[in-house]
Amino acid sequence: LGRSSQARTLSLHLAPYGVGQFLMVTRDITQIERLENTRKDFVANVSHELRTPLTVLSGFIETLQDMPGNALTDAQRSHYLELMSQQARNMHALVSDLLTLSSLESTPNREGGPVLVTALARTALAQAQALSGGQHAFDVRLDETLRVRGQDTELASAIGNLLTNAVRYTPAGGAITVIWEPTPDGGAAYRVQDTGIGIDPADVPRLTERFFRADRGRSRATGGTGLGLAIAKHVAMRHDAVLDIRSTPGEGSVFSILFPAARMCPPAEPPAAAGS
Ligand code: ADP
Repeated sequence: LGRSSQARTLSLHLAPYGVGQFLMVTRDITQIERLENTRKDFVANVSHELRTPLTVLSGFIETLQDMPGNALTDAQRSHYLELMSQQARNMHALVSDLLTLSSLESTPNREGGPVLVTALARTALAQAQALSGGQHAFDVRLDETLRVRGQDTELASAIGNLLTNAVRYTPAGGAITVIWEPTPDGGAAYRVQDTGIGIDPADVPRLTERFFRADRGRSRATGGTGLGLAIAKHVAMRHDAVLDIRSTPGEGSVFSILFPAARMCPPAEPPAAAGS
C-alpha cells in the first residue's frame, strides 16, 4: 500500500467507499507507474545503444582527420574503414530491429494466409551458414507438409533471429539443428537447437525483455542488437504461438516456436495428374 504519494492521497479520498475500491485504484496507479518506467528505460536504452557506436565512429573520424595524408598504409586505411563500417552496420541493425518492433506493436494482428515455414527456414539457414563461415555443422529436419496461417515477413524475422543467435552463441566446431515438426496436440514446432554456451537458468525468464543480454560483452562483440528475442516473442504471440526456451549452461539451448493446432492449414493438395 502507498507505493506513491499519489496512491496515498487517493486512499484517503476513497476510504469511506470501501476497501475494494481503494485496492483497485492503487493497482491502476502502480501499473501506470510501471508503464512509464518501462518507457523511460526503453528511451534510455535506445539512446545508449546508439551513442556507443556513434562515439566510436566519431573517434575514428577525428583520428583520421588529424593524420597527415600519407601517414597510413593502404592496409591500415582499410582496417580503419572496416572498423567504422562495422559500427555503421551495428547502428543499421539496431534501427531496423526498432522499426520491426514498432511495426509489430502498431499494426493490427491479421491471421494471414498459409505460410511455408520450410521456405522461410531455408532462406534463414543460408544467412546463418554465411554468418557461421563454415565453423558449425548444420543438421536440417523440415517436414514439408506442415503449413501455418500467418504473416510471412513476421515469421521470417523470428525464424531468422533464432538461427542467427544459435550461430552467435555457439563456439566454432559446435552443431546447430533446425527442426520443423508436428507436435502431439496437432500443432507444429519450429526448433533451433545448438551445442553452444547455454544460458544461466536465472536469466532465462528475462531473455525476451528488450535489450536484456545474459552476456553483454559477448552479445555486443557478435553484433547483436539485444532485440532479437523480444521480436521473436512478439511474433509468436501474434500467431497464438509460444516461444519456449530450454537451456543448460555449457551444453546448449533449444529455442522453439510452438504453434497450436488451430493455426495449422490442411496439407497442400497434390497437383492433379495431367489428363485426369
Ligand atoms: P542479442 O542481439 O544480444 O543476441 P537477443 O534478444 O537475440 O539479443 O538475445 C538476448 C540474449 O539472449 C543474448 O544477448 C544472449 O545472452 C542470450 N541468447 C540468445 N540466444 C542464445 C543462444 N542460442 N545461446 C545462448 N544465449 C543466447
